Amino acid sequence: MAVNTAPLEVQADLLRRGLADLQAEDPELASLLDAEVSRQHHTLSLMSSSSTVRPSILVSCASALVNVTAEGMPGKRHGTGCEVADRVELLAIRRARELFDAHYAAVQSHSASSAISQVLSALLEPGDTLLGMAHDQGGDLTLGSPAVFTGAYYKAIRYGTTSAGLIDYEQVRSLALAHRPRIILCGAWAYSRVVDFERFRAIADEAGAILLADISHIAGLVATGRHPNPINAAHVTVTCTHKQLGGPRGGLILSGRDAHTKVPGLRSTFSRVLDHAVFPRMQGAPAMNMIAAKAAALGYAKSAEFDACMGRVRTLADELARGFEARDVEVVGGCSENHTVLIRLRGALTGAIAESALGSCGLLLSKHRVPGDTRSSAVTSGVCIGTGALAQRKLDREGACQVVALVCRVLDSVTPLDELEYHLEPSVREQLRSEVDALCARYPIADYLEH
Ligand SMILES: *Cc1c(COP(=O)(O)O)cnc(C)c1O
Repeated sequence: MAVNTAPLEVQADLLRRGLADLQAEDPELASLLDAEVSRQHHTLSLMSSSSTVRPSILVSCASALVNVTAEGMPGKRHGTGCEVADRVELLAIRRARELFDAHYAAVQSHSASSAISQVLSALLEPGDTLLGMAHDQGGDLTLGSPAVFTGAYYKAIRYGTTSAGLIDYEQVRSLALAHRPRIILCGAWAYSRVVDFERFRAIADEAGAILLADISHIAGLVATGRHPNPINAAHVTVTCTHKQLGGPRGGLILSGRDAHTKVPGLRSTFSRVLDHAVFPRMQGAPAMNMIAAKAAALGYAKSAEFDACMGRVRTLADELARGFEARDVEVVGGCSENHTVLIRLRGALTGAIAESALGSCGLLLSKHRVPGDTRSSAVTSGVCIGTGALAQRKLDREGACQVVALVCRVLDSVTPLDELEYHLEPSVREQLRSEVDALCARYPIADYLEH
């Protein structure tokens, strides 16, 4: 196809005009949007879910596809004017299939939790049993928690981890054989080890269950061969696009060798059932601008630059784990095999206090329960660190050492008063805050966000 620069010039004008109009029409919102750029620039995210979209992806979100109503699937829309939208969606589907070696991909889900809801609603009847990882053991809140519809509509049975922080596969197997769930969910939020999808599949086959893998947290490692790909081990795989894939907020539903086989107990195949689950069962028109941005992210995920970034995700996790252990801070399981480092805090220091104190110094992370934790999930005895955003900032070994040192200094400077309240000397906080800011400036979040 010939390269045509004119349309891009039209879009550049539109974006410039839009920014100027926003400033003139709504200075209140404009200043909030600016404040958010500044917040992201001046804080260091150690959140395991964090990532920053590239400018090309940001611009795809802001494209004219936002104006397109394209209810239905490519080539089968309710309404006309979808020729370009069809090509964009087919491009996203093709790239998703290539990236994950999938035989089937659906790209319309608005998020990972909607993708999971769609898959469950298609494959389960209300009241059916599902087996998922307990949230307080590192599982995701969407997986069978009583707070979420999965726990309310289905009979949710939960498995956990051993004291070393490994999934307790023996427990998964005995629960699966005792309860005969319709679906087994595997996928975790705060889990620092490799997930053995083949072992899950063997258990699912033995128990006559369908296996659903959720790789939201590790999709980039999977896409670059740094974590086993569940695509053929699981019947269905879901992921969000806004964590390791560095894309826009959204979800993907994928399937490998089982895509065109019949769903046990139903007359249709997985691919047909899943297509219907998204539209019309659970969603109306898709967000076409976000699908364009997903296509951009999935394309970029094939690049050598993305591969190098995922390499840094792994080495930084190793370096952080080693660094904390060297300073006598306990890393659950002693190491990390992905992007996550789970830390067990000592004594009166709770996860809630650590999260708040570190946050006030510009180091963002989240509290999390650790194996054997006696505190509630609102308090916890641990924190979870991820290296995705650090890898995007191109942090090197020296930077990793500084992160470890800063986190340890905050934790050492805090005096807990009870489970939630603490004292941190204001002058110490100011000093730490300015050192975090200097680190942020040294490893900028993204060139286009530099001030
Ligand atoms: C983040 C996450 C989700 C939820 O993703 P959303 O797109 O925000 O709904 C679900 N499952 C896992 C394992 C996650 O890490």
